[in-house]
Amino acid sequence: MIKRLVATACLLLFSTPLLAEWHSDQADIMGTRVSVTLWHEQPERARQLIGQVMAEMRRIDDHYSPYKEDSDLSRLNRKAAVGETVKVSGEMAELLDKSLYYGRVSEGAFDITFASLARYYDYRQGKTPSDQQREELLPAIDYRHIQLEGRDVRYRHPAVYIDLGGIAKGYAVDRAIELLRDADVQHASVSAGGDSRLLGARRERPWVVGIKQPRGGEGVAISLPLENTAVSTSGDYERYFIDDAGEWIHHIINPRTGKSAGDIASVTVLGPHAFDTDALSTTVFVLGVEKGLALINQLPAFDAIIITRAGKVHYSEGLAPPAP
Ligand code: AMP
Ligand code: MG
Repeated sequence: MIKRLVATACLLLFSTPLLAEWHSDQADIMGTRVSVTLWHEQPERARQLIGQVMAEMRRIDDHYSPYKEDSDLSRLNRKAAVGETVKVSGEMAELLDKSLYYGRVSEGAFDITFASLARYYDYRQGKTPSDQQREELLPAIDYRHIQLEGRDVRYRHPAVYIDLGGIAKGYAVDRAIELLRDADVQHASVSAGGDSRLLGARRERPWVVGIKQPRGGEGVAISLPLENTAVSTSGDYERYFIDDAGEWIHHIINPRTGKSAGDIASVTVLGPHAFDTDALSTTVFVLGVEKGLALINQLPAFDAIIITRAGKVHYSEGLAPPAP
């Protein structure tokens, strides 16, 4: 009898769900805070997987950061600017292809050549491009200047300079989730700044993702219970300064003017992949409430929540509260 009890106790103790627990870590990568949380039975394996996720994020940053001289992106920007056709990696071609797709879908609201001019903003130092730079470089902002054929890239304008800041974090988050899913993780959350993706639920409950109060407000404006979803928020409070005229100068640029975009404070987009929700949140921010919602309502896999500077909240059709 005692033997049987001990055997049962051992079985209970060693049956995996009892030992499983949450594991998480954070690191500063890609100029932002990366967080990983996952549910796993083996602490050592969990630590290893979190290490692999962080390593993958660092790899992506090393390849696609415009701030690293020897990144693939910096090399492309240097060589293509002098008229060379540059053979890029398959991965880089994928990033460019998706970026150009969102350029077309948004009629240029999402445009990775925004940086041709916007590279001369310095949000930390409170600097904007000069009038002369505006005049000279605004014509270089046009995603159609980028010619992508297979893995061959050419810039059709000499002052084109691209920056993948509006899409690379989402791509990285997707890669991380794929890595965890391939390792049979069932419950995980990965985020890089405003871009997150959730694998499964938070065990019996959904994950809860908070949309921050925009512009320095404290706490959470809206809480979203979610599972198996990507969610990206673009906000004008992420990188900004207030200029001498009291204007709020932030990092999401209207490619038509080369200036900070619109009258939105934050946009949150929900959908299956962070690669897309990242690009779309930036896109909707630039398009504004009306055109932004019209775009999201055309895309069945996506939904959006927009908070305007005046504090009004707009939902896409898939999320709109039922009429009273
Ligand atoms: P997110 O926080 O995802 O909205 O990304 C903002 C980042 O996207 C900025 O810091 C820029 O690197 C980049 N970005 C800004 N404006 C645009 C634009 N019009 N099209 C594409 N990327 C942009
Ligand atoms: Mg984005």
